[in-house]
Amino acid sequence: MKSKLPHVGTTIFSVMSSLAVEHNAYNLSQGFPNFPVDDQLLSIFKEQASLNVHQYAPMAGFPKLRQEIAVKVKEHYNREIQEQDVLITAGATQAIFATIQALVHPSEEVIILDPSYDCYESPVMLSNAKSIRIPLSNDFLPDWDRIRSAVNSKTRLIITNNPHNPSGRTWNLSDFNELQALLNDFPNLYLLSDEVYEFITFEKQHISTHQIDGLKDRAIIVSSFGKTFHITGWKIGYLIAPPLLMKEIQKVHQFLVFCVNSPAQAALATYLPEKNLYELGPFYQEKRDYFQSLLRKSRFQLLPSEGSYFQVASYEQISNESDVEFAIKLTKETGVASIPLSVFNADGSDRKLIRFCFAKDNETLSKAAERLCSI
Ligand code: PMP
Ligand code: GLN
Repeated sequence: MKSKLPHVGTTIFSVMSSLAVEHNAYNLSQGFPNFPVDDQLLSIFKEQASLNVHQYAPMAGFPKLRQEIAVKVKEHYNREIQEQDVLITAGATQAIFATIQALVHPSEEVIILDPSYDCYESPVMLSNAKSIRIPLSNDFLPDWDRIRSAVNSKTRLIITNNPHNPSGRTWNLSDFNELQALLNDFPNLYLLSDEVYEFITFEKQHISTHQIDGLKDRAIIVSSFGKTFHITGWKIGYLIAPPLLMKEIQKVHQFLVFCVNSPAQAALATYLPEKNLYELGPFYQEKRDYFQSLLRKSRFQLLPSEGSYFQVASYEQISNESDVEFAIKLTKETGVASIPLSVFNADGSDRKLIRFCFAKDNETLSKAAERLCSI
């Protein structure tokens, strides 16, 4: 059988997590929290699950949940949106897939900035379109000259990710100005803005596409309750898009999933207004600082982590191996699993960097760090 995705294998997240289990390693590879979910969310979930909320939800999501998301967008970004601008999705992954399938035509082009999260390219290929992978600069910020020279009249989408997985870098206002100018020059270009870590930033406040005039009305903005409420296994997120794009995206959404898990939506509709999302940044900043302080004694060099729950480290002073070999060896021999960065690059370029996830309880972080300091 001829594969539609001949270059796609098993994701690095599954590979490294299985290796971690096999070798009984501390798993700082796949990005998921290992600490318990908020008791309040669990009790709301139990309460909601005891009600009659077990049939199909409305296709676009429960109105109350969509309204509460609109309230948060207003509170955080001072943008007025309506319930109809919000689509509840089965995680950010499904939001991204539905968007690309709905908006990108065969032989059109999609700009992806490397290192890039792994779920962007396959839906582009399945649309018989072309992904144009452009490296970010060495400090993981957009290289606007390269991006601009790659955009042409066939470019339908540019996918951005801020705060950035895997690097943890966040964009500056000047980056948004450049992007705005680019979209001005190319009226058929839309922005798919992956902001799943929007509430996890540290010293600098997150700048959202929601705040940028000239971008927000040309953008599909994606977020994930998995990241915001430590519930990656619930697979629930949302996208916000202007009416014309939303109409097309819902055509795909209704046949991809039709609707999303009703009890989860009911619980989140009650829980979301109760929560102060400004607390999430400081919560993770404490973990980042703790992890960084533990690793200061190691031979790893830590790169800046401004947002997300990832810390990138250089192992240049420890080994010459490729990052994939090093990450595998570190799991097997040192008992700490990480993610090698080269797998996020189309050209496989390897700068001897690995990514650690610090969304872990302090005991896991300290035991893992102890091992990392021993090499
Ligand atoms: N985008 C980025 C940058 C991510 O890191 C992730 C997942 N961790 C996703 C999208 C997918 O999110 P979800 O689990 O809600 O599908
Ligand atoms: N987004 C998570 C990460 O970057 C992985 C999610 C997955 O396993 N697909 O680690």
